[in-house]
Amino acid sequence: MTNSSRPDARRNASPYLYGEEAEAVARVLESGQYGHGAVTEEFERRVADFLGIPDAVAVASGTAALHLALIVAGVGPGDEVIVPSMTFCATVQAILAVGATPRFVDIELGTLCVNDQLVMEAVSDATAAVMPVLFGGRAVDLAAVQGELDERGVAVIEDAAHAFGSRNGPRRVGAGRALTCFSFGPIKNLTCGQGGMVIPRTPEEADAIRRLRLLGVAQSQAERANTTTYRVESFGLRYQLSDLNAAVGLAQLAHFGATERARRDLWRTYRSALSSLEGVTSVDVDPDRSVPHLCQVRVKNRDAVFARLRSQGVGVGVHYPPNHSQPAFAAWKRTLPATEQAGQEILSLPFHQHLTEQHIEHVVSALGQFLKSAGGTMCSPAASC
Ligand SMILES: *Cc1c(COP(=O)(O)O)cnc(C)c1O
Repeated sequence: MTNSSRPDARRNASPYLYGEEAEAVARVLESGQYGHGAVTEEFERRVADFLGIPDAVAVASGTAALHLALIVAGVGPGDEVIVPSMTFCATVQAILAVGATPRFVDIELGTLCVNDQLVMEAVSDATAAVMPVLFGGRAVDLAAVQGELDERGVAVIEDAAHAFGSRNGPRRVGAGRALTCFSFGPIKNLTCGQGGMVIPRTPEEADAIRRLRLLGVAQSQAERANTTTYRVESFGLRYQLSDLNAAVGLAQLAHFGATERARRDLWRTYRSALSSLEGVTSVDVDPDRSVPHLCQVRVKNRDAVFARLRSQGVGVGVHYPPNHSQPAFAAWKRTLPATEQAGQEILSLPFHQHLTEQHIEHVVSALGQFLKSAGGTMCSPAASC
């Protein structure tokens, strides 16, 4: 894997490799041990050190991380899980996977995230967990209501798929009191190719997740090599990370400082270029605290802007169409005004580390030209659009 194809503004997102990933994968291939082993364990230790926490458990994907987090939090049939509709469908599918039901909640239009009030309004006796989504890399701080949630036995499971490396106050996301789930999919801030991680709250939780990800089998592969049997101790799934994927993640992590700087610089470049445009509201992220994952704006007739920019070869996207309007989740549909408005107006501009300042100028000028030609039909930054 190399960056030789140099993706440009035609792509909305693209992994960025530092060159050592390919050698790291080759070493694992040559070792003949591709499965779950020493490289994954090292990746777990390095991520835990990076986040400043005792332990981290690597799994096959972000979706697997969310699924296992819900299981260890004891969420199951009959339970409700508070979740913003504005998220990738994986968050909702993980809730269905444990037999629980989603209780969709609205978001703040400015951040696309939930807040204390939106969460607490939805808490009921049926609530077993709340899953804040750290949209675009923004930390969601529920510290003010944590005591109340604890009292009511409501677990906090963060979907931090967008937020690897971001900070919540002085600490990195994952170093707080929540069960935190990361994705290391192809376009996330840090990639393993495919992968994910659960940050457990206790050593017991870590053990349980390690067993669950290995089909409920208690021992590690190394221990199993010296016995004639293995012990299946609990329900389990095939959710371990492979050493091939962990090798990619380790190489990526060694360069995460550069990733953080690059994503922040790109975001600031966009931000200052966009500030001269009328009719565009940017979805804000604090680049000093967050490692931006997306660069999103809101515009009034989004579908027309989307079609025009796509026709000009600009890789715009939409993160995400709201889940409460998806056919599979229709049973839990409710009215969510800010989510519905965001669903109509959000537009993700190309955002990845292959972009140059020239690419960004090109994207912003294409957007500006369309807005000018459409004349006055967009919302102004001051208006609440
Ligand atoms: C990517 C993503 C996931 C799922 O992660 P995978 O590694 O793709 O399974 C979950 N939630 C959000 C918000 C995501 O962006």
